[in-house]
Amino acid sequence: MAEDKVHVSAAGHNLAPQPTERPTEIARPIIEVAHLHKAYGATVAVDDVSFTVQHGEIFGILGPNGAGKTTTVECLSGLRVPDGGTIGVLGLDPQRDRHALRGLVGVQLQEGSMPPKLTVWELIDLFASFYGNPADAGELLDLLGLTAKRGAYYKRLSGGQKQRVSIALALIGNPKVAILDELTTGLDPQARRETWGLIEGVRDRGVTIVLVTHFMDEAERLCDRVALIDSGRVIAIDTPVGLAEREGGGNHMRFHPSRPVDDALLTALPQVDQLEHQGDRIVVSGSGDLLNAVISALATADTEAKDVQLQSATLEDAFVRLTGRRSENSEQDGQR
Ligand code: ADP
Repeated sequence: MAEDKVHVSAAGHNLAPQPTERPTEIARPIIEVAHLHKAYGATVAVDDVSFTVQHGEIFGILGPNGAGKTTTVECLSGLRVPDGGTIGVLGLDPQRDRHALRGLVGVQLQEGSMPPKLTVWELIDLFASFYGNPADAGELLDLLGLTAKRGAYYKRLSGGQKQRVSIALALIGNPKVAILDELTTGLDPQARRETWGLIEGVRDRGVTIVLVTHFMDEAERLCDRVALIDSGRVIAIDTPVGLAEREGGGNHMRFHPSRPVDDALLTALPQVDQLEHQGDRIVVSGSGDLLNAVISALATADTEAKDVQLQSATLEDAFVRLTGRRSENSEQDGQR
């Protein structure tokens, strides 16, 4: 998307640029939030939140209840006026440029805000009329598996179908950015998985997605990067795997060496942070490709790793370490 790029000249090039040569393009973030602050009276909901989202990303906003996630995305979508900081969405200000952004940003509405006495088709048609360049409603119903339900009253739909309607309404304006808050709350495991597939399909159509969630499995499966927010502040931003590795206490490999080994052989590896003996077993903790690094190092000493057990840090581990709390869905995660 040309309007979302800044052009950088090919500095340091020895030859004069050929007519076919194009300047290097660096994608400018689609969303830029800097030092966002928002209080409700004496309650500081968002203290100091900064992050950027690139075109085509699924960006997760994770955090415990009351962390300030919803307030942050409400400021992004122009529904709340921040007290401080700056927000740019597609280079526009959600307050000052509210009208220009209306068709560019789709927001998932919560169930309570839907008129219940309309059919699925009437709802979609009504929302389409709000936009200058709406998506093809029939195609959208198809994409979301709602075609068979087009004549059904909204209030008669199942939880999963209502959720899909709310996604359809977020997308009917043909937005470049979709903001989805608690996408799969209340859905059964099958419906959650189907919804994840749909969201990936939406991203593949070029829509950048900001996803508020407190489900760790959802963030691990869907998000390219996540911002972990606690008490109104960003405490970490990374890929789910990076966050798990960096903050989750590392990966652990437990094994029996086929013969005694010098600890230094393993502690010298950049992947190994810690080594512990548990009886005649060795437990190494670290990051990166711990397994192959250890096996290769052992091989240089004609030693094999037997009865290998691997334990990888998860996003939930990182969440617990960083916030001091378990995520609200840790029990649900356990049922996976
Ligand atoms: P999250 O989405 O992470 O659960 P919220 O942004 O909803 O967090 O809330 C952050 C804090 O702001 C909480 O302490 C919440 O009680 C408070 N809060 C949210 N909305 C309002 C409001 N409209 N009026 C007063 N306090 C609010």
